Amino acid sequence: MSFCENGITHGEKYILRCVGCGRAYSDEHYRLKCETCNSGDCDSLIRAEYTEKKFRISESRGLFKYASWLPVKEEPDTGSSPITYKSRNLARYLGLKNLYVGFSGYWPERKAETQTCTFKEYEAFPTLVRFKEAKGNTLVLASAGNTGRAFAYASDILDIPVIIVVPQSALHHMWLPQKPKGKISLICLKNADYSDAIEFADRMAKEEGLCQEGGARNVARRDGLGVVMLEGARQMKCVPDHYFQSIGSGTGALSAWEACQRLIEDGRYGQRLPVFQLSQNLPFSPMYYAWREKRRKIIPQKDMPDAKAQIEKLYAKVLSNRLPPYSIKGGIFDLLKKCGKNIFAITVDEAKEAKDIFESEEKIDIVPAAAVAVASLIKAVKFKKVSEKDRIFLNITGGGEERLKKEREIHIIKPSKYIENTEAGKIL
Ligand SMILES: *Cc1c(COP(=O)(O)O)cnc(C)c1O
Ligand SMILES: [Zn+2]
Repeated sequence: MSFCENGITHGEKYILRCVGCGRAYSDEHYRLKCETCNSGDCDSLIRAEYTEKKFRISESRGLFKYASWLPVKEEPDTGSSPITYKSRNLARYLGLKNLYVGFSGYWPERKAETQTCTFKEYEAFPTLVRFKEAKGNTLVLASAGNTGRAFAYASDILDIPVIIVVPQSALHHMWLPQKPKGKISLICLKNADYSDAIEFADRMAKEEGLCQEGGARNVARRDGLGVVMLEGARQMKCVPDHYFQSIGSGTGALSAWEACQRLIEDGRYGQRLPVFQLSQNLPFSPMYYAWREKRRKIIPQKDMPDAKAQIEKLYAKVLSNRLPPYSIKGGIFDLLKKCGKNIFAITVDEAKEAKDIFESEEKIDIVPAAAVAVASLIKAVKFKKVSEKDRIFLNITGGGEERLKKEREIHIIKPSKYIENTEAGKIL
């Protein structure tokens, strides 16, 4: 290459580097993959490497105050941002001295104004901004509900069009805290699950003028979700000893892992990565089963036999990704090898009980997926996987939804198209 490696010029805010082969790229065209490592056994994530190594927040409001570690140029104004507080009541209930709650959702007393009520909002904003800056036309994505709502909201605020594919079972998640302005096309797949929606969106994105959003491969999604850990570290003054989160795809956990690596590189936030205490919801828990045998590959017949029926039984339906970035280099298997222990498998009853406990102690409602994480913390305490004084970060990935619906008017997004899943293959 002529000037620097792969045409990377000096002074760029960040470059993209392949976790597998180390090859570096400039980010000019919304790159999602390494050119050398993007198939079969060689599949690998790419990561953003920022020039700025010191953690810094800007003057911006909301999540773009972390823009020095987001792969975007602009910093749009938004109220969307996670908060972290030190728990008193739940901590006392569990006998913990240093329990921090990272909360994503609506909770006015704590100045939490994430109005679609989950951490998916932090992926949506930077993804759309990165897409626009790469001169993209229309973004296509699939969702089990929360992602779709978050992208719909960010699209509406930023005035950037999106096409969102959701299985019908997730349609009730598609609402906004404001009247949609009309840049959102919602496609409803009937008799389909989340993975069907992903496959359909993938095929659709190959059409002229459309572009795949990229899921976990998209650095804007991961670094967007990473702001939860950045805000946590800002409040805790270091990276935690333990990180608790329920996983569906695992993108959120990868984001936290990458954010911790950056914070450690900064030098002021500790030297040691947290222990990642992840959880899935039974009966659909493919990563739990694969990791239990320390296998890099998920074997569908073994780890998710009859996936559709299993997903049907889930309490936390958003934790239902059949194609998670688990085996991929830099994915969940690598994370667990480096700094994980167990994945907790949480039953529906355990999650429901955890929801009640959290809500009566902390006085805010939480979504089922967050309740799965709370249940895992309860188990970790019970089985002594954490000590009383450990600094614990509990990622409450969604909450305040029940409260928001009581206090604010919500607007249902109407599908522009319904497609029968069995027909979907014929259309695209
Ligand atoms: C998507 C989601 C999760 C799981 O996050 P992944 O990044 O898919 O693992 C957890 N909680 C809530 C509320 C979610 O919407
Ligand atoms: Zn590579």
